[in-house]
Amino acid sequence: MINILKNKKILLIIGGGISAYKCLDLIRLLKKQQVEIKTILTKGGKNFITSLSISSLTQNKVYEDIFSSDSESEMDHISLSRWSDIILIAPATANLIAKFASGKADDLASTIALASNKQIILVPAMNVRMWLHHTTRRNIKELFNSGYLSVGPITGDMACGEFGEGKMSSPDEIVKYLNTYFKDRNIVKDKKLKAIVTAGPTREYLDPVRYLSNVSSGKQGYAIAQSLAKFGIKTTLISGPTELKPPENVETIKVQTAKEMLSEVKKSLPTDIAVCSAAVADYFFEKYSNEKLKKENNDKLILNLKKNPDILEYLSKHNSLRPKLVIGFAAETENTLKQAKEKLLKKHCDWIVANNVSDLSIGFNSDINEVSIIYRNNKIENIENIEKNSKTFIAYEISKKIVSNFLLKNGKSFN
Ligand code: C5P
Repeated sequence: MINILKNKKILLIIGGGISAYKCLDLIRLLKKQQVEIKTILTKGGKNFITSLSISSLTQNKVYEDIFSSDSESEMDHISLSRWSDIILIAPATANLIAKFASGKADDLASTIALASNKQIILVPAMNVRMWLHHTTRRNIKELFNSGYLSVGPITGDMACGEFGEGKMSSPDEIVKYLNTYFKDRNIVKDKKLKAIVTAGPTREYLDPVRYLSNVSSGKQGYAIAQSLAKFGIKTTLISGPTELKPPENVETIKVQTAKEMLSEVKKSLPTDIAVCSAAVADYFFEKYSNEKLKKENNDKLILNLKKNPDILEYLSKHNSLRPKLVIGFAAETENTLKQAKEKLLKKHCDWIVANNVSDLSIGFNSDINEVSIIYRNNKIENIENIEKNSKTFIAYEISKKIVSNFLLKNGKSFN
């Protein structure tokens, strides 16, 4: 059997909780699987286990302080993050979770969490009331929203004598989780999947200074492109004008008009996945003036508009290069689901992500969204809802469904 964990590099941050002792067993199990492990022992963690026992097992130095005098030339918080494939926090105490959620960086562990772009996986462990406390709930939600994952906690007898949810997962369960995590990502990587994401508005110019556009911010599309890239999918983002920073590891192509967007989409074919989240202007001006138009004397000005090409429909109906999965968006102000279903059928895409933009707290310019996904073969009653959450979280959920769609064809679902 292939050892998925072999040669993986895990940075283990050990927090200050009684279950820190389980990390020794965890390290032992991971070493058996030939995982390379570097560790950071927090100040709190030192109360429960010693760096000597850790280093004896990992055969590596244990990092403790942010600026230690015997550090290598590079700064530890940068070099450790660069070195790692993932960062595992065990036990993830209420304090560490609060620090990560607030962006505090007052020791090596919290600085790494802030400075790293690697996947961070929490293994929470704390007293049941601390775990259920509303501040911990809020902090955990914040971290999940920004892409953290977690193993456990589980329900059981606690070291403090109470019973409930908050117990750290066992080393066996953690290793099992890591196996699945890397296996799923390997399948995605082996498949060498490619995705195109369109995002933002388009601008249809009347003359060099005037244009027709809409209020789309591009945030949802950018978040999806970022999330797909994190899953190891080679992603190209074709974006209309936005204020947003191009996502990391995503090839980002900026365009102005719908026709330019279509032309870049065509150049990016073939692809496995197409996510059309752009709010493409439906029309362009029939006549473009190379010079700035002068004001006329008459009170009325009639301008003719012509229909833009529909990029989603073009991709969905492409005979030879149709992506295996084409996803459209439907931003509606009324009868959202019904209209979205009609769009799905008319445009021949596979899924449509519907949201109600008459609710100003979600949609276009907000950081929050709430969507429903309608699948081609499903009835409207079988739609899936992703409840109100950050656009990053919604993007992660959509990406997970996209990845599952490809893994399912391999006879398994995504965890
Ligand atoms: O018809 P409507 O604009 O509401 O459809 C929305 C969906 O169609 C979105 O996925 C959008 O990106 C896509 N679309 C497109 N090209 C157009 C118009 C819409 O790709 N010209």
